[in-house]
Amino acid sequence: MAGQILDGKAIAADIRADIKAQLDARVAEGHRPPGLAVILIGANAASQVYVRNKRRACEEVGFYSELHELPPDTSQDALLDLIDALNGDALIDGILVQLPLPRHLDEEAVIERILPTKDVDGFHPYNIGRLALRLPLLRPCTPKGVMTLLGRTGRCLQGLDAVVIGQSNIVGRPMALELLAARCTVTISHSRTKDLPDKARGADILVAAVGRPRFVPADWVKEGAIVVDVGINRLADGTLAGDVDFAPCRERASWITPVPGGVGPMTIASLLENTLQAAELHAAGQG
Ligand code: NAP
Repeated sequence: MAGQILDGKAIAADIRADIKAQLDARVAEGHRPPGLAVILIGANAASQVYVRNKRRACEEVGFYSELHELPPDTSQDALLDLIDALNGDALIDGILVQLPLPRHLDEEAVIERILPTKDVDGFHPYNIGRLALRLPLLRPCTPKGVMTLLGRTGRCLQGLDAVVIGQSNIVGRPMALELLAARCTVTISHSRTKDLPDKARGADILVAAVGRPRFVPADWVKEGAIVVDVGINRLADGTLAGDVDFAPCRERASWITPVPGGVGPMTIASLLENTLQAAELHAAGQG
């Protein structure tokens, strides 16, 4: 029987409605709306789409948002100065620097400049370190969104074997930390991993974050596994494909995320959750 769809689009809409209700209650108590500053450098087409979607979601729930569009030749110092100004801006709870940055900019130094309580992407070493220590504060958005999706399956995750394909700082590694914190037994794999198909076949939860269209075929999927497809790949005909060969994999999975409409909307919902959480931290005098 075909696996059930983990409908990220619908679940993200529920989360936005819940955030809007929480925001309305906070404003009624006299708090200002949470504020998100987005920094976009250069004219990368995919980044422009992501930024537009994030700002639209902010507007929908009633957050304050501002966009800082900088030219592609922006210097490191100018970017760090802007981050310093936003760190000190009392109306701003979250700072998001859209990645990737132009090559002349030092991504690590930029991320580390953001105040950890305004790091709503959850990429600062402080926030990654807290996740590794099972003391999460602001959690990286995509893995956090995946955990929300996994929660909606109703399955107890403890003790399940999870395999994450991909070890990037923004998806694969924090994904593995999240699954470990949920007490899964985690294998993290990458381009040098031996016998990946066999490892994948052992997974009760298989997360693909590779960046290659339809990389995971059906015979890598254990019968009844939960399959999470993080990949977003633009094909030559303009359509989107995930990292999982969806239709045949669905035949073996118990649950599976579609692309589009799976993890993508959950990433944005997690960003909103993080921005609200950051606003609560700031209202409580932290950070
Ligand atoms: P990335 O930085 O390019 O990392 C890709 C990972 O896949 C690397 O760890 C790489 O291994 C591994 N890999 C590549 N070829 C492999 C192979 N043949 N076998 C096993 N592993 C292999 O990509 P990313 O930023 O993590 O993004 C991954 C995908 O998720 C992309 O399609 C991206 O667009 C998408 N994404 C989606 C969202 C969302 O909201 N849905 C958010 C972020 C990213 P090495 O480390 O050994 O090179």
